[in-house]
Amino acid sequence: MRRISIFGATGSIGQNTIDLIADGDGFAVEVLTGGRNVALLAAQARRVRARLAVTAHEECRAELQDALAGSGIEVAAGTQALLEAADRPADWTMSAIVGAAGLAPGFRALAQGRTLALANKESLVTAGPLLMAEAARHNATILPVDSEHSAVFQALVGEDMAAVERVIITASGGAFRDWPLEKLASATLAQASAHPNWAMGQRITIDSASMFNKSLEIIEAREYFGISPNQIEVVIHPQSMIHALVGFCDGALMAHLGPPDMRHAIGYALNWPDRRALPVARLDLAAIGTLSFQAPDLARYPALRLARDVMATGGLAGAAFNAAKEIALDHFIVGGLSFVAMAGIVEDTLCQLSGAGVLTKLPDSLDTVLAMDHLARRTANDIVAAWQGKQG
Ligand code: NAD
Ligand code: MG
Repeated sequence: MRRISIFGATGSIGQNTIDLIADGDGFAVEVLTGGRNVALLAAQARRVRARLAVTAHEECRAELQDALAGSGIEVAAGTQALLEAADRPADWTMSAIVGAAGLAPGFRALAQGRTLALANKESLVTAGPLLMAEAARHNATILPVDSEHSAVFQALVGEDMAAVERVIITASGGAFRDWPLEKLASATLAQASAHPNWAMGQRITIDSASMFNKSLEIIEAREYFGISPNQIEVVIHPQSMIHALVGFCDGALMAHLGPPDMRHAIGYALNWPDRRALPVARLDLAAIGTLSFQAPDLARYPALRLARDVMATGGLAGAAFNAAKEIALDHFIVGGLSFVAMAGIVEDTLCQLSGAGVLTKLPDSLDTVLAMDHLARRTANDIVAAWQGKQG
């Protein structure tokens, strides 16, 4: 029996993971965690007969207890409980909390020396070297779940990294790919939350429209595969059928294709190093007919330029970048910031912190990274407040 824990079970990745394991044999579910969606968390815990269900919010404890009364499933609540749940022995842990909040539980799960399936790209963006070192220290395996990184990982099986010339990750271009630039300032939350190809959580969907998601993924690729920034390219591919390509020194390009369905990348990580049948659609290439590509326009997607600056700075710049992006996104979601203003807030936050000389410190501990996360959130919030003051 493989013991499985899922952090962020109630989210888009979490639900897909539950769907894959609920129908499979040989899985014993140790921990499921969620946020305020207590009814879903309780239903999932009953469905897979989890031993422990944890809500991240103390105030949701009673509701979760009521929903699981008589089930024999343990209940816990709060941030500390989330960390303790990561100490429970599990052979395979899915890290699918959204945002920097996913870093500490995933980091802690590595101490068990097992497999961490990493959907939470923010972990690598904020603390890549630290996370990889912790995995090595405990002889744990990190498997990528982001579709592009899973694709690269699969294209690299049996290959020598020394023969890799470049990695190309594809981007759909998001909701506003074909919008006139001048219209972007008026983009609404509903418009930004509608992805043309993928069904995902709201935050990553908006990040796809701004390409902040792709900017996180460039950094994620650098950290995961240990390649240099100039070896990572982004190409817009509106059909989202090719997820990534690896270019080798002999000029060969190995592409990974599949339908835009996260169950593929999740299932690959679940079955690795084997492959097993997955309930995903098979591509009909003749029906698709044409796959197209175009270079991303940096004026439309300033986030891509910022990712390059962040990689050049190194140190704690990734933690600051992600935190500022999360704050800008929070403000866009509640209506306090326009879609195009988000990149400006992130850039100003990085400028201010860089001026203060704090970005180049090494991410040598979780506390150092979390301290930068907090500082960047405060800084970004102040910049938003000043910006809003000027507007009105
Ligand atoms: P989601 O918003 O659908 O779900 C997020 C999950 O995290 C929920 O279970 C929620 O309760 C939990 N959560 C949110 N804030 C929390 C907090 N502060 N503390 C503890 N738990 C919290 O998100 P998602 O789309 O499933 O994405 C999850 C992660 O996977 C993200 O890092 C995202 O970038 C990455 N990812 C997602 C997809 C996708 O298809 N959705 C693809 C690639 C990568
Ligand atoms: Mg992705």
